[in-house]
Amino acid sequence: MNALQTSNLGYPRIGENREWKKALEQYWAGKINEESFEQATDRVLLSNLKKQIALGIDIIPVNDFSYYDHMLDTAAMFGLVPNRYGSINKDIPLAQYFSMARGNSTAVASEMTKWFNTNYHYIIPELNETTFQLIENKPLKAYRKAKEKLGIEGKPVIVGPYTFLKLSKGYEEKQIPSLLSQLIPLYQQVFKELQAEGVQWVQVDEPILVTSLSKDEFETIQSIYAQLHEAAPNLKIMLQTYFDSITEYQTVVSLPVQGIGLDFVHDRNQNLQYIQKLGFPEDKVLGLGIIDGRNIWKADLNKKKEIIDLVLEKVNTERLWIQPSCSLLHVPITIKNEPKLDKTLKNALAFADEKLQEIHMLKNRYDLNQNSSDAFSKSEKDINNLNMSAARNNSIVHSAVKNISNQDFRRKQSFKERKEIQQAYWQLPDYPTTTIGSFPQTAEVRKARRQFKSGEWTFEQYKEFIESEIARWISIQEKIGLDVLVHGEFERNDMVEYFGEKLTGFAFSSNGWVQSYGSRCVKPPIIYGDVAFSEPMTLTESLYAKSLTSKPMKGMLTGPATILNWSFVRDDLTRKEVCFQIALALKEEVEILQRNDIKMIQVDEPALREGLPLKKENWHEYLEWTVQSFLLATSSAEATTQIHTHMCYCDFNHFLEVISKLDADIISIETSRSHGELLESAQLKAYDKGIGLGVYDIHSPRVPSVEEIENMISEYSKLLPKEQIWINPDCGLKTRKEEETIASLQNMVKAAKKFRNEIGHTNTDADATTEEIC
Ligand code: GLN
Ligand code: ZN
Repeated sequence: MNALQTSNLGYPRIGENREWKKALEQYWAGKINEESFEQATDRVLLSNLKKQIALGIDIIPVNDFSYYDHMLDTAAMFGLVPNRYGSINKDIPLAQYFSMARGNSTAVASEMTKWFNTNYHYIIPELNETTFQLIENKPLKAYRKAKEKLGIEGKPVIVGPYTFLKLSKGYEEKQIPSLLSQLIPLYQQVFKELQAEGVQWVQVDEPILVTSLSKDEFETIQSIYAQLHEAAPNLKIMLQTYFDSITEYQTVVSLPVQGIGLDFVHDRNQNLQYIQKLGFPEDKVLGLGIIDGRNIWKADLNKKKEIIDLVLEKVNTERLWIQPSCSLLHVPITIKNEPKLDKTLKNALAFADEKLQEIHMLKNRYDLNQNSSDAFSKSEKDINNLNMSAARNNSIVHSAVKNISNQDFRRKQSFKERKEIQQAYWQLPDYPTTTIGSFPQTAEVRKARRQFKSGEWTFEQYKEFIESEIARWISIQEKIGLDVLVHGEFERNDMVEYFGEKLTGFAFSSNGWVQSYGSRCVKPPIIYGDVAFSEPMTLTESLYAKSLTSKPMKGMLTGPATILNWSFVRDDLTRKEVCFQIALALKEEVEILQRNDIKMIQVDEPALREGLPLKKENWHEYLEWTVQSFLLATSSAEATTQIHTHMCYCDFNHFLEVISKLDADIISIETSRSHGELLESAQLKAYDKGIGLGVYDIHSPRVPSVEEIENMISEYSKLLPKEQIWINPDCGLKTRKEEETIASLQNMVKAAKKFRNEIGHTNTDADATTEEIC
């Protein structure tokens, strides 16, 4: 029978009850030995595979499992161990593998960064001081294990050579040919061994193919795949792409591989159009990524079937695999463990297991012996029920969004006008000092929150505790001599969840964990309904803090794009519409703070940039509505109200222009580790607003000296006129210890004062004016 096949690209590693995470952390803490660790992680791996068998997946991925991260695995497999972790022998012991990920007493960890536009972080391979050698054929080992234990013919997954190289660091463009000449023979060896073992298919992940690549790069890719094919002609390669449509369709589909995997969810319909217009090679298998691997909503199976039908006009049934749009690593495991979610919402959700079920149901629809139309109607009904629910039909929110006009994206006064008004109003010294918002979330703070959440503490008890922390830190900040104070964010568990809990339209799963990096998992809020303001979110704490000091107090909000990008977002509206809804709710908060005389308000947007589409041509559109959302939230600020924002990136090239459009009076950014790059930024010269260039790195426990901070300020002052410069750490201090935080801030304030004095400026008095000096 010419049936469709079902396939998966990767299954979440963490275990239904995060058993994998727990095993890792116990092993790191020395509570279990290597053998028990391997047994525990093996149990998770095998149960993952068994589940996929039970769910009716024909082609099951192996080697998608990892002890930490798949990029790190690939680097380790090719012997790419930087010298600081010691030399390597025949294999890479676990301790050495984990020290690359986490550092050890003598060597810092390898850097990590986001895997394309997801919230998953991978360890960046360092190619500068290593030699390539094949340590172990990991895909083969994973294939053998699955076959031996469960009798399945798995599909080994491996990161493709070009994506691997492009995501690594420590080399220059011109070295690429030489690096490939070392790397490709190792891939060839891996493939030869897989072929000799009788492996049918290997999934080679090349998500880099959805980004903008040059013609030369495509030539390189062509040559890579020709070499791989030549080495193992009987091993079939499924060249897997995801997260967007591919560029250069014709080139990619004519590569010497036997299958092409495309994303049909996040491709803006482009991949389908390619196939309809240009057809698909008859000798290849199409991996049809039809079920959304990055979001948590049930699929409308009738609509999905329509797409499959269209594809089947161009591709034969026996050459079609139905699969998720990407690895299911990015979604939680199952809705079975969600007893608390509202029924209408829960019925409309599909996590990893439910997504695999959907894939199976789609396949069944093409099998004449099966009748799955009931399942299709149920999906449709469940989705409809949520769409019709009151939560998604808040007419006030809908008409507010409809009525947004360009006027709402503009502050009444220009920055130039505001600047003068604010200078006169705030009377700040030159080089004002402040912090980014949070102070250490100590064990006591976390314990207090647990006690409150579990009902052990009353609201009054909890409130009293939070107030005592705020009061303690107001006094610390005053003693240190900071110019603009914050309340410290002790009441917040997380900068998105905290707001989500107070706005309408958000739900929180009990078990919806996804891996963020290593053993760290996050539980993103679910934006399922219309987002609206329902009660003041930050007023109580800000007002309380303000009542304790005569210094300016900065209110602290999370911005719309960050709330959006760190949540699972409903997919019946555009992201732009949801972002506008969030912005309108935040606007009310800004107005309330302002009415209550909190007139410095920071709206954090650390995640604005990470939502950038993978293709540059789509940046403009995204930036337009995210910037508009920020403006929508902040534009009712009066001239005296000073809007701050914060972002934690280091690479600011090409981004200051966007930041400027936010029209925030001051931005604080993370530059302490990379100010060199900023020095070169021509955009900085064009930037006219206030800017806090982080003067020390908060990611390290090290206390910076007065002298080094002063040097940093001195460097900044060569770049920018003094009235633009603010002095602050480069991010929030919640992860730091109290002693090091105080010591560092003391040095920071001393350095700022010294610098003011040295350049002949001592106008820290309340009535001094901030005149220009020459
Ligand atoms: N205000 C937040 C804090 O200080 C900002 C955090 C962030 O940039 N990620 O913690
Ligand atoms: Zn930050």
